[in-house]
Amino acid sequence: MPDRPEPERVDCTECFAMPHGGNMRIAYAKADGGMSETWHSPECSKSITWDDLQKGAAQVREQDAWAKGLFPAAHRRLERAAAAMPDDAAAQPFVAALTELVQVQAGTTGFVGLHSWVEILERHFPPELPDPGRTTE
Ligand SMILES: [Zn+2]
Repeated sequence: MPDRPEPERVDCTECFAMPHGGNMRIAYAKADGGMSETWHSPECSKSITWDDLQKGAAQVREQDAWAKGLFPAAHRRLERAAAAMPDDAAAQPFVAALTELVQVQAGTTGFVGLHSWVEILERHFPPELPDPGRTTE
C-alpha cells in the first residue's frame, strides 16, 4: 500500500480535545489533496452527534424528493416559454443557454458539472474575436 501522509491536526479552539477513543474526530479533505483533522470532546458544541447526521441526511432526502417531483414540470414550462419567445436577437443567446443548461440538468441525477457550464456558455457567449478592420466600436 502506498504511504498516506498523516492528517494535519487542527486543535478545536473550544475544547482543545486530543486524539482519544472517547473523542470525536472530524476529518476534512483539503483542496491540495491533504487531510486535516480536528478532535472534539463529547461535550463540545462543535461535536456532531449521530442524531445530527441523521437529521441532516433526512433533510437532504426531503429536498431532493421535492426537487425531483417539481423539476419536470418546471422544465416543461421553461421550454414552452422559450418556444413562445419572439425572435429577439438580443435575448436569443440567454434563452438558448438557459434552455440548454436546464436540459443538461434534466439528464443528470446530481449537479451539472462546471465543464458543462463552460461548454454551453462558451458556445452561446463566445469570446470576442479580434476585429482588425475595427468595424465596430
Ligand atoms: Zn471541540
